[in-house]
Amino acid sequence: MQTIKGILFDKDGTLLDYDESWLPVNRELARIASEGDSELADRLLLACGMDPVTGHIVPDSLLAAGNTRQISEGLIAAGSRLDVIELTTRLDDLFSHAAEFSVAVTDLAAFFGRLHGRGFRLGVASSDNERSIRQTAQRFGFAPFIDYVAGYDSGFGTKPEPGMVLGFCAATGLEPSEVAVVGDNNHDLHMGRNAKAGVTVAVLTGTGSRESLAAASDYCLNDITELEGLLPDLQPA
Ligand SMILES: [Mg+2]
Repeated sequence: MQTIKGILFDKDGTLLDYDESWLPVNRELARIASEGDSELADRLLLACGMDPVTGHIVPDSLLAAGNTRQISEGLIAAGSRLDVIELTTRLDDLFSHAAEFSVAVTDLAAFFGRLHGRGFRLGVASSDNERSIRQTAQRFGFAPFIDYVAGYDSGFGTKPEPGMVLGFCAATGLEPSEVAVVGDNNHDLHMGRNAKAGVTVAVLTGTGSRESLAAASDYCLNDITELEGLLPDLQPA
């Protein structure tokens, strides 16, 4: 593998376990968008990619991969009577609040601390809003180890555009070829490819599957902890 000096992580389904963190939030999102009409709420969930009975999420669906604005537009197209600005604002509030209840895939403070100690520059690029990402970094104690945060509202564009990766490069002085992009969705991997990132790494803690992620990933890992064995040390012990 070429020299990788920086790692840019997606958040949901990558650092946070998607099902444990997001299924209850998606149900609340549908309740808000349907204004309490439970039949409409189920239809909205289905239209945006979640089976209201089993909780199964369709890989790369709006709920799996969309940003707040895109999810709001999808909910309205599927029958929500709220307007897009109000709904986006209410969902961003919900998502920020959800950061308090999210479940990490591993001890993120220890994980980021080890990678930081090995010399990697680290960042988070998410389709969630920047406030939620920063709250997550604080809550799980890895904020001191990251150099960069980009949400859909940070001004770097949206996935799968390359902007969030290029922003990470600008913040750290790295070339895209020195960056690994890690995520659970094709949006993440395509963002990496569009930016000409050195490697794209898929993880299976989110809404994707080995099949759905195979084409756009150089590596497919069960979870982020396997990354530690994959990347050679940057600094001799
Ligand atoms: Mg994700």
